[in-house]
Amino acid sequence: MFGKRIQLKLPPIRLRVLIMVLILLVGFVPVILKGAVLSNIYRQTLLDGRKNEIQNQSLILSARLTRSGYLRSAERDASLNAEMDATASAYNGRILLIDQNYRVIRDSFQLAEGRYHVAPEVIRGFRGENGLTYNAEQRYMIQTTPVYSRTLGEEENSSRTVEGVLLFLASTEALRAQLRNARNSQVIMDSVFFLLLLSLSIVVSGLIMRPFIELRTSVGQVSNGDLNQSISQNTYLITKQLSDELNTTIRRLRDADQSRDEFVANVSHELKTPITSIRVLADSLMSMDDVPVELYKEFMNDISKEIDREAKIIDDLLNLVKMDRSGVVLNRTSVDMNAMLEQILKRLRPQAKLRNIEMTLETVRDVKADVDEVKFSLAITNLVENAIKYNVDGGWVHVSLDADHQFCYIKVEDNGIGIPEDQQDNVFERFYRVDKARSRETGGTGLGLAITRNIILLHQGIIRLTSKEGEGSSFLVRIPLVYIEKGSAADLTAAETTE
Ligand code: ADP
Repeated sequence: MFGKRIQLKLPPIRLRVLIMVLILLVGFVPVILKGAVLSNIYRQTLLDGRKNEIQNQSLILSARLTRSGYLRSAERDASLNAEMDATASAYNGRILLIDQNYRVIRDSFQLAEGRYHVAPEVIRGFRGENGLTYNAEQRYMIQTTPVYSRTLGEEENSSRTVEGVLLFLASTEALRAQLRNARNSQVIMDSVFFLLLLSLSIVVSGLIMRPFIELRTSVGQVSNGDLNQSISQNTYLITKQLSDELNTTIRRLRDADQSRDEFVANVSHELKTPITSIRVLADSLMSMDDVPVELYKEFMNDISKEIDREAKIIDDLLNLVKMDRSGVVLNRTSVDMNAMLEQILKRLRPQAKLRNIEMTLETVRDVKADVDEVKFSLAITNLVENAIKYNVDGGWVHVSLDADHQFCYIKVEDNGIGIPEDQQDNVFERFYRVDKARSRETGGTGLGLAITRNIILLHQGIIRLTSKEGEGSSFLVRIPLVYIEKGSAADLTAAETTE
């Protein structure tokens, strides 16, 4: 139900930009937050200070008004008037004194004297409340302070009567200007800090990225074809691991390159040999006058053999290339191995007879295996053919077939010339021949065993060679009876083949 996920295709992110952004975020966000908190605290402190000052000034004035009986006396105390005016102007404000009839009896602006002023804060003052209201929008604060009668003792506030109310209106404009200045300096400082941080992030991200850029340059040289490069970028663990992986890949590419070059050189050489022979034969025929027909025939016969050889090399090469390609499709069927071996031996018997070589087939039981009959038959034919070719006149070739519940075993033995121990590993390589002249004589191309091994590997099998020079050789092939798709338990067997 929720299975469908929307996948966004984002363009690749530049690592350097990411590092810069991270440095800026980590460095700058706390500074901004700290700045915001500090400026708030500063604003609050300024406001609280101002409130306290206004309250104190109001209380002082109220006490002095009480003490001097200002509200009752007909003559207003001039010094108190002056003090009220001075206090009001010091805070850029206005002081109003209101009597019990809500009449303004003193206004530092001298505008409202004699007028009535019935406002909520005045009423609260007459109730004895001493309080301050801050109007942030209009940018002022009003301090209401009751002025008490003088007759009763000053200490007994509760029993005194409120004779008037002192209203102190103070502008907070100056505070705002102060705050604005502080904020401006903060913005300047933050901008300078941001620029410093930006430069730092450019330098640091450059330093962090340097090993990666060097790695990219080296890889670029490799991808341009310079396989002699060895990449070594060990600054970070990840660049070291990448370098190691890349070096392994480069080594493989170099090996592949080298073996391809060798292969091409070998192929050219092998293909040229019969052509050179044909040319020599043809040239010598042409250089002779009155060539007898017999000689003509003999030379033409040799030329024909060389053409056959050339065709065989090309056939073998095609077979090998086909088998080398990944994704070769095997046409598997359940094949009667006994019948297949009998057929192979039947086909090769005339060849063996020519040299008086005895061929025997020993089958312990009836065996059926899942193989590609054409390919597998070619693999075994190569082995039996070699056993005849590299044998002695009057020798023997012994082929045996056996199986257990899992594998089919085919052994091809001979008592021929054998293979020297130090060359036994090489005989499966393409174009490798122990005795070049003998191989050539017998029509060998040096590709037979390479083809055989490839076919056996494709069948998830293994091939083992035991041989002793001068005594004979034995090739043992083991393949699974039932082919199991890769990725399953049969991988174990496949892994063994690559030993
Ligand atoms: P070729 O076409 O030369 O026979 P192969 O790839 O079939 O090529 O064999 C490679 C080489 O291994 C041969 O040239 C030969 O020297 C050696 N060889 C193969 N099979 C035998 C064998 N049964 N006895 C002795 N040597 C062998």
